[in-house]
Amino acid sequence: MARYDPVDSPDETTMFPYHDPTPPTIRDVYAARGVVSRHLHRTPLVRSDALSAELGADVYLKREETLPTGAFKVRGGVNLVSQLDAEFREAGLIAASTGNHGQSVAYAGEQFDVPVHIAVPEDANPDKVAAMERYGATVHLRGDTFDEAREWAEQQAIEEGYRYVHSANEPALLAGIGTAGIEIVEELPDVDYVFCPIGGGSSASAYGLTVGQLADAKVIGAQSASAPGMHRAWAEDTLEPADEMDTFAEGLATSVPFALTTQMLREHLADFLLVEDEALRQGVVSMFEEEHIVMEGACAASLAGARQMADEIAGSTVVLQLSGRNIDRATFLELLDEV
Ligand SMILES: *Cc1c(COP(=O)(O)O)cnc(C)c1O
Repeated sequence: MARYDPVDSPDETTMFPYHDPTPPTIRDVYAARGVVSRHLHRTPLVRSDALSAELGADVYLKREETLPTGAFKVRGGVNLVSQLDAEFREAGLIAASTGNHGQSVAYAGEQFDVPVHIAVPEDANPDKVAAMERYGATVHLRGDTFDEAREWAEQQAIEEGYRYVHSANEPALLAGIGTAGIEIVEELPDVDYVFCPIGGGSSASAYGLTVGQLADAKVIGAQSASAPGMHRAWAEDTLEPADEMDTFAEGLATSVPFALTTQMLREHLADFLLVEDEALRQGVVSMFEEEHIVMEGACAASLAGARQMADEIAGSTVVLQLSGRNIDRATFLELLDEV
């Protein structure tokens, strides 16, 4: 039973003996590539003429929102579940999520025939909940916030012996997500900047490890100024939870910083910006009006970050990660109406 008892955790989340807090290496990312490319397509990297003109730079969009589930996280889910210890195949997996991590684990569980439980906060995006159920997961509505849902899921992992899929302290997730960085380096080796949203920091860590090191690009993270938990962790090297967490962009709504991604961001990130929720709203609307691409609030942090650094990036080759497209109808209409 000891296997299902928590171990000392460097942060405020629960970790189990199977959680290895060692950062993945580039070698792990290349190893993940075989599995990821068997299950998922290579995502397009497309030049945006409108944003290139606006920013006076060569701007490319890494279209991760085109993946099944509508978000980049599924690369990590597929890689992690492909390596799952046999003892968990029957008991199954549990994760806590505001939606896209849950969809990723649900998708991977379905592909590899492993049962999945997902805890989400009670006000979770209804489209994301429906998608998780479509992939065969059992969804549990628990608590008002991600952290309440997370604590419930961690307790269930102890009681039921599920494999707890942490949203950040999982090298196999980060290695899977990093496969997108390798795709960018292959197609655009002279990339100067990559802008990437930060919630728990998994994708910015993975881009830093890959595009940052292999192409010597500056990887810039952007988080909502209304949910600055990871920003403080990065800036002050602390794993204290943030006092504030109030963004409309649920993909960025974390307040407890994570040990593994904080360590990786401190090592690999060139800069970490805070962007206003208003800039996220404007980003969603302008991406729709100028590129006719639908994206969710969290995803707009890439564009908001690039706009904030417009002077510095002029004349450079820039990639914006489009992290996800799962915006619900009510929120989308509200943004189109207000902005
Ligand atoms: C999870 C998520 C983010 C934040 O990514 P992290 O890896 O947690 O920093 C951004 N955008 C979307 C659409 C997401 O699903």
